Amino acid sequence: MDVFKFGGASVKNAEAVRNLLNVLKSQKQLPSVVVVSAMDKTTNALEKVVECYFKDRKMVSSALQEVRKFHSNILLDLFDNDQHAVFGAVNGFFDEVIRFLESNKSTNYNFVYDQIVGIGEIVSTTIISHFLIDNGIKNQWLDARALIKTNNTYRTAGLHLIKTQQNITQTIKPDLLYVTQGFIGSDSNNFSTTLGREGSDYSAAIIGYCINASAVTVWKDVPGILNADPKFFDQTKLIPHMSYEEAIEQAYYGATVIHPKTLQPLHQKEIPLFVRSFQDPIAPGTCIKKNKLMPENICCYMLLKNQIFITLSTLDLSYIVEKQFKKIASLLESYQMKIRLTQNSAISMSVCFSDPFNHKQAMLHELRAKYDLTVVENVNLYTVLNPQTDRPDFIPEGTDVLIKQLTTKRLQFVTKS
Ligand code: ASP
Ligand code: MG
Repeated sequence: MDVFKFGGASVKNAEAVRNLLNVLKSQKQLPSVVVVSAMDKTTNALEKVVECYFKDRKMVSSALQEVRKFHSNILLDLFDNDQHAVFGAVNGFFDEVIRFLESNKSTNYNFVYDQIVGIGEIVSTTIISHFLIDNGIKNQWLDARALIKTNNTYRTAGLHLIKTQQNITQTIKPDLLYVTQGFIGSDSNNFSTTLGREGSDYSAAIIGYCINASAVTVWKDVPGILNADPKFFDQTKLIPHMSYEEAIEQAYYGATVIHPKTLQPLHQKEIPLFVRSFQDPIAPGTCIKKNKLMPENICCYMLLKNQIFITLSTLDLSYIVEKQFKKIASLLESYQMKIRLTQNSAISMSVCFSDPFNHKQAMLHELRAKYDLTVVENVNLYTVLNPQTDRPDFIPEGTDVLIKQLTTKRLQFVTKS
C-alpha cells in the first residue's frame, strides 16, 4: 500500500488536474491513498476571507466569490455536463462556509480560520475524485476530518496518534483507492483543525505511518531534492538518495522542500519517502530512506538569510562553558530563537540564530546586563554538507566572514550581507 501526495502546484488548474490523471496512469501500480492540497493559491485566498470577516465584514462575500469563481472555471473545463453531481457537491461546501459565517459567534481568530480555510482541500479533492472516476480510476472520497484527530490548538493542531490510527485502520481497506485531503483534521468536538501551512506532506506521512505504507511519494514541481536552492546557487544537482538524518539536517540549515515533521513518522517505521516531479512522472526523483547516504561526491549548499550573530564574553573572565552555557541556551530558548550555529573559546561564545517572533530587543537587553556583548544583525549563514573544499567559490573574495566552522561533515560561514 502506497501513499501519493499532490500539492497545490500540481492541481493549480484544469490542465494540471488532467496531468495528475496521467501521473497515476503512468505508474505500474496505483497507490492506496491519494492526498491532495488546495488548488494553487486557494489557501491564501481563503485566509483573505477570514481576514475580511474580522476586519472588513462587507468584503467577505466578494472575497469568497473569488474562490468560488476560480473553482467553477476549473469545473467547467473538466466536466462537459453542468448537471454533473460534482457541481452540486462543490456548491454545497461553499454554502456551508456561508452558513457558518452567518451563524458564528466565536471571536477566536484561529478557530474561525480553521473552520474556513480547509474548505480549499475539501473542494479540490471532491473535484479530483469525480474527475478520476469519470476517467476510469475508481476511488472513494474520504473526509480527512473523520480520520485525523488532533487537539484544539487551531492553526497548528497537534496530532492524536492513537485515535487517528484507530480511525484509519477501521476505514482504509486494501485493494481500494482513496482520495483525501492534506492539511486538515478535527478536534474532540469535531470542529475542523489545520496542521499548519504546508501541512499536507505531513498528512501524507501520518496516513503512510498508519497504514504501514511501503512508500510515500510527494509529487512536486521540482525533479526531486536538489543539492542547493536554485534561487541562491547556480548549477544545482539532483540528489538521487539520502538518509532521513541527512534530509532533516538539510532542512534545519535552510532547505525547504521537505519539512522535518513529515520525516519523523516515516523514519519511525522506516517507510521510504520519494520526492518526484509531476512534470516527469517516469523519472525516479529522490529517495529518502534508512541508511541510504547521499553519494559522497555531492555536497549540499544551504543559505539562511536574515540571521543574528552575537558574541558574548564573561565580565569576570570565568569560563563560559561552565555554568554560563546552559544559562545562555535557555535564555535564547525562552525567547524562541532558532539557534543554527554556536562556537566557543575559554571566555567567549558566538551564536548565530534567527528571531522568528521578533523578540530580540528584550533578549539582547537581558544579555547585555550579564555579558560583554557584540551584535551583528542581518547576516547570512551558509552551510555546506559534505564539503569538498574549505573555501567554496560562492563566497566572493572580500566578503566579510564573521565566523567559519569546519567539521568532517559540515562547513559553515557567517557573512555580513
Ligand atoms: N493548502 C495548504 C497550504 O497551502 C496546505 C499545503 O498545501 O500543504 O498551506
Ligand atoms: Mg501547498
